[in-house]
Amino acid sequence: MDEPTIQLTRETFGNIPPSSVVAFYVMAVASVLVFCWGVWRRWKLWRQGKPISVREILTGNFARLKPRLGRLLKEGLGQKRVRGRGLASWAHVMMFAGFMMLFLGTTLLEVDHLAAKVSEKFHFHHGWYYVIYEGALDVFGLLFIIGISLFVWRRMRRPGSLGHRASDWTVLGLFLGIGVTGYFVEGLRIVWDQPVGLALWCSPVGAGLAKLFGGMSEATSRSAHLAVWWVHSLMVFGFFAMIPFTRLLHLITGPANLFFSTPSLGQLTPISIEAVEETGVVGVSEIAHLDQQQLLSLDACMECGRCDDACPAFASGKPLSPKAVVQDLKGLMETTALGQAAALHGDTIHAETIWACTSCSACVTACPVRVDPLGLLFELRRDRAAEGALAGSAANSMRQMQTKGNPWGFPQAERLAWADGLDVPLASDHPDFEILWWVGCAGSFDRRAQKVTRSIAKLLLKAGVNFAVLGPNECCTGDSARRLGDEFLFQELAEKNHATLKQHGVRKILTQCPHCMNSLTHDYPQFGDKFEVVHHTEFLQQLIDDGKLAAPERTGSVTYHDPCYLARVNGVHQAPRDLLGDGISEMEQRREKTFCCGAGGGRMWMEEEADQRVSVLRAKEAIETGAETVAVGCPFCLTMMTDGVKSCGSGAKVEDVAENLAKRLGL
Ligand code: SF4
Ligand code: SF4
Repeated sequence: MDEPTIQLTRETFGNIPPSSVVAFYVMAVASVLVFCWGVWRRWKLWRQGKPISVREILTGNFARLKPRLGRLLKEGLGQKRVRGRGLASWAHVMMFAGFMMLFLGTTLLEVDHLAAKVSEKFHFHHGWYYVIYEGALDVFGLLFIIGISLFVWRRMRRPGSLGHRASDWTVLGLFLGIGVTGYFVEGLRIVWDQPVGLALWCSPVGAGLAKLFGGMSEATSRSAHLAVWWVHSLMVFGFFAMIPFTRLLHLITGPANLFFSTPSLGQLTPISIEAVEETGVVGVSEIAHLDQQQLLSLDACMECGRCDDACPAFASGKPLSPKAVVQDLKGLMETTALGQAAALHGDTIHAETIWACTSCSACVTACPVRVDPLGLLFELRRDRAAEGALAGSAANSMRQMQTKGNPWGFPQAERLAWADGLDVPLASDHPDFEILWWVGCAGSFDRRAQKVTRSIAKLLLKAGVNFAVLGPNECCTGDSARRLGDEFLFQELAEKNHATLKQHGVRKILTQCPHCMNSLTHDYPQFGDKFEVVHHTEFLQQLIDDGKLAAPERTGSVTYHDPCYLARVNGVHQAPRDLLGDGISEMEQRREKTFCCGAGGGRMWMEEEADQRVSVLRAKEAIETGAETVAVGCPFCLTMMTDGVKSCGSGAKVEDVAENLAKRLGL
């Protein structure tokens, strides 16, 4: 008896009558048209913003295009920013991988079908390609269904930070329906088509389902196949048409935002006086003041709530939810287009929300599609500051910065008072220094921080470092002013400091304040020279590595609190740990995923409600490690963590990493 010939292929529209094929294409075109209309409506909303140079971005040189394409590949296709969040991440990665594979498979099938119409020799959907294709789609289809099921389960639990809309259930139901009916179509096709051997088992799930329909006659299986094929096709068309009108919109806007956004961790866009004179606009007071990429980013937000989960202001009960800020602005973008917009300030976003932000950047790094709630809040602050809406203790500190050169309002002549009895060289007396030590306002004037400054000075002197300080010629960097929205006060201070640094020929700067470090690294080059800026923990560790300082073993247990502007924004988190030595009792939220102390973004200068202190939340986490000492690497963190630990009634000691080392060296 002859062996049956195994056909390693199948007909694309097998069992589908020609009239149904025609109707299929008519509906496909209709769903594409609805999709395009929906995208066009959103595009008109984004066009309300200030223009961005799309042509320049797309046609600019490859060196500038490369990082954007890299983000698209790594963070879009590779889901880099989605991963690392347990079940929700796994669910998304599985659903995404399944979706992409099914989409690619369907597209290839259609390409093959059309190619074969031109000439049979272009037909490629057969042989080993067919076996791999069918097997891959079967496996990825399963991943797709598992991912959707996990999402359904998660949504049923309704986690607080996740956005909930009725249409979410429609979308998930549709996805599940598409996945399940896809397998039924395949199973029923196998029943009437009767493939054998590899042609059967290259679709293992379909083959298994076909066994369930084992008793079906060919005529019944053909009718059932046609009916389920129609249900499946209609659901696919429905899904495609729904994309621009539901949360699925992020399938387009997410990758688009990954491509068009510009990473800006620790940075702010400068405002020029000329631009303000021309437009009369400082910051953002209406939707049209945001640029087109920022408006696109509002549509990229899928309300996953990761930003809220990471936000210290939200966690401490302050009236700030970064997700709500994005969603409220999105709502305003829509109503503005209809001519029914409420006021941005007051009606849409409240003042307490704008000032509650600590600028910790946790929301920025948490967002899977690079929405930047912090960047939006900074722009809103700029408008408020220009309107004179910043009041109370923070406004007072800004005034002191302007008139006295430091937020505390101490006389500049007292800048070097901390160095009493120490042989600390001034740049004006010692012009041949190798590194300039930028002490900062806190290190110069705050009583507690002065002790840290003295410890650092002793360590530098012991190691024989050729350094100098500016003393009374040092002025506040203006970091807090900029982050509180007073751009022109910041620029005034930056200009003054630039002139001083230039006068002394400074190229390399050492600083113990991560806020000064960030400003000198990211803000200052926008207005003049670029400097090499190093944090004192990195510098001290280098001195140990070079054999210029010893590092005696630590006694007692210690935990380390990573300052946001040091660890998350500027990536410095290993050096402080190396300085503290082995056996640190680590907190769960650490390194780039640290939790704020509550002082950044100018919050240092604001009053806090006793029951809304970020510092208390962080202090609790530190105390829970059971460590006797909480080490920090920032003068603001030193203040906040000391207050937090005290409020918790703990006896843990809070000290700077440099103090810890100096103590071990007997200095
Ligand atoms: S920067 Fe920090 S405090 Fe501000 S909104 Fe983002 S997470 Fe919240
Ligand atoms: S802004 Fe980003 S992290 Fe926050 S809810 Fe939207 S998508 Fe999620």
